[in-house]
Amino acid sequence: MKSTPNSNRTHISLFGKTNSGKSSLLNAITNQNISIVSEQKGTTTDSVTKPMELIPYGPVLFIDTAGLDDSGSLGELRVKKALSELNRTDFALVVLDGSNLDYDFYLYLTNNLKKHNIPFLTVVNKCDLLNYDDREKINSLFLDAIFISTKNEKDILNLKNQLIKKLNVLEDEPTLLGKLLPYDSFIVMVVPIDSEAPKGRLILPQVQMLRDALDHGIKSLVVRDTELENTLNNFNKIDLIITDSQAFKKVDKLVNNRFKLTSFSILFANQKGDLKTFIEGVKVLDKLKDGDKVLIAETCSHNTSHEDIGRVKIPNLIKKYTSKQIIFEFKMGKDFPEDLSEYSLIIHCGACMINKKLMESRIKISKNNHIPITNYGIVLSYLTGILDKSVEIFEF
Ligand code: SF4
Repeated sequence: MKSTPNSNRTHISLFGKTNSGKSSLLNAITNQNISIVSEQKGTTTDSVTKPMELIPYGPVLFIDTAGLDDSGSLGELRVKKALSELNRTDFALVVLDGSNLDYDFYLYLTNNLKKHNIPFLTVVNKCDLLNYDDREKINSLFLDAIFISTKNEKDILNLKNQLIKKLNVLEDEPTLLGKLLPYDSFIVMVVPIDSEAPKGRLILPQVQMLRDALDHGIKSLVVRDTELENTLNNFNKIDLIITDSQAFKKVDKLVNNRFKLTSFSILFANQKGDLKTFIEGVKVLDKLKDGDKVLIAETCSHNTSHEDIGRVKIPNLIKKYTSKQIIFEFKMGKDFPEDLSEYSLIIHCGACMINKKLMESRIKISKNNHIPITNYGIVLSYLTGILDKSVEIFEF
C-alpha cells in the first residue's frame, strides 16, 4: 500500500457555477495541472479527484465538480453528478466568481450543503478584477468569504491556512479498534488464504485493521484458519479474534466460546455505518417472500475473487436459509440507486473503499426509502447463528 487509501482521506469538494474558477483553484492549491482550465463554460464535465497531503493537516482528497448551473440534457446530467458528490463530501469550498456574483445561487448551494451537514468555506475568486467598492459590497454580503486570485501565491497560501484551520475542528473518523480495546490488548486476525484470496497481498480491510492495531498499541497475530487451532492452544489470553466473515462458522467452532469473536466486516460496519440499523435490517431475512428483490452493494469497482462473497456466497446462503425464490441485484463501486423502493433489503459490503460520509449517505437513502439495510458480516454471522456473540464487544 503506497499511500493512504482515498477512503481514509478527508473529502474536500469544490462547488460553484461554471467558469467560477474551481479548476484553476484546484490546480493552484495542488500546484499541478490536474483539471483542464478553459475560458469556455462547462470544461469540467465529470468530477476530477486529486489526493494530496495537506501539510500539516494530513491526507485529503480534492474533488473538482462540474458547474452547478450547467444546462441542456448533458448539462443536467453533469449537475446531477456534481450534486451526488454531496454524499461523500466532508468539507466544501464554495467558489464564487467575484466579477459576476449571484447571491441566489449562493443561497441555493449553501442550503444544499447545510441539508447535508457539510461545513464550508466561501471563496470569492477573481478578486484581481474587483475595485475597492466591489470588495466592500461583497464583504457585507458574504461575511466570512476569503478573497483570492488563483494567480496570486499569497492568496492561495492564505486560503490553505484557513482551510486547515477549519479541517482541524472536524470530528475524527472513529477508529476500527482503538475505542474498543485498551492499549496492549492482544488480537488474532484470521485470514483464510484460499483460491479466493488475491495473490501476493492482503485485501484493504485486513491492511487497515493491521494499521489500526499498530496505531493503538494493540498487538496482533495474523494466521490462516488452518493454523488457528494450534494458535489458540498456544495462548491463554486473547482479547479478540477477528475473522474473515466467510470463515465464521469454522472459526466459531474452533474458538468454542473461549475468546470474543467478530469479523472484519462487522468492525467496518461499526466504524463506517450504523451497527444498530444493520442488526435491525438483517432480521428482514426471516420475512422475505418469493419474488422479493434484494440489492447487494459492494464498493469494490475492480474484479477480484473477493466479490464472490457478494455475488455467489451470500445469495446462495440466503436462498438456502429462506427457501424462497429471491431475486438478487448487484451494484458495484459508486453505483447506488436513489430510488430503492423496489427492494426488500439492501446488503452492503464493509465499505472499506469509501469514506464514512458516503456510507452514512447510503444508510440515509435507505432509511428515506424505508428499506432496511444490513452488512455482509452481519448477514453471515446471523446465518451462522452467532450474531449476538459477534457483536458482544460493542456497546449499544
Ligand atoms: S467488497 Fe467492500 S469491504 Fe470488501 S474489499 Fe471491496 S470495498 Fe472493501
